[in-house]
Amino acid sequence: MEKNSKFIILLGAPGSGKGTQGKILAEIIGYKTVSTGDLLRNEISSGTQIGKKAEEIVKSGKLVTDQIVLEILESYLTSTSSKGFILDGFPRTLNQAVMLENLLEKLESSVAYAINFEVNQEDLVKRLSSRFSCSNCKEGYNKLFKMPLKEGICDKCGSKEFTTRADDKPEVIRERFNEYNKLTAPLIPFYKNSGVFFNIDANRNIDEIRSELVSLVKNY
Ligand code: AMP
Repeated sequence: MEKNSKFIILLGAPGSGKGTQGKILAEIIGYKTVSTGDLLRNEISSGTQIGKKAEEIVKSGKLVTDQIVLEILESYLTSTSSKGFILDGFPRTLNQAVMLENLLEKLESSVAYAINFEVNQEDLVKRLSSRFSCSNCKEGYNKLFKMPLKEGICDKCGSKEFTTRADDKPEVIRERFNEYNKLTAPLIPFYKNSGVFFNIDANRNIDEIRSELVSLVKNY
């Protein structure tokens, strides 16, 4: 990555739509999205040492150690070139937020925005248990509001294979919310004090949220 890269942090509970919106925003503004969940799932499916350590924890809905996530994030960032990055799912603890500050100082880069996707948690279990993705290109879909345009065929790559996440089961979803409320929600006051914090009402549809997000990032 280059010096003076800008980082946009997306905060929000599991299923708040930050992953979907992060990908859309990245395409529009020419940044790369980094999802630490995706990086971990790649490690798990490739059977690496890190993947083996993380697998059971990810399956249970708990957070993996800060050290593991920092390691895969740093190795991704230092080997990827982009003028900016959108972080989806990192930081997820106060300790990770401090680690990120230190890492960005080392990389001579900074956080431009921390955007919180505010949602009604009661709606999220339904949202999460309705989502699926293309097995080939990983494009995300949801039975409630984003089906492929042609039934059974991925809009992006034409594949007919789809998959659901092992941790999108109701009992694991509950554990992920517990982790979010206990460990991640305290990041909101942390970033509120940093001058780069913005709230987005993420209870609306994809297009409305996208247009607010784009104007927020472009107008600032
Ligand atoms: P996600 O795709 O962001 O919902 O993440 C899926 C799972 O990966 C989480 O439930 C955690 O087990 C793990 N994970 C992803 N990002 C982090 C992180 N920043 N810190 C700890 N665990 C993480």
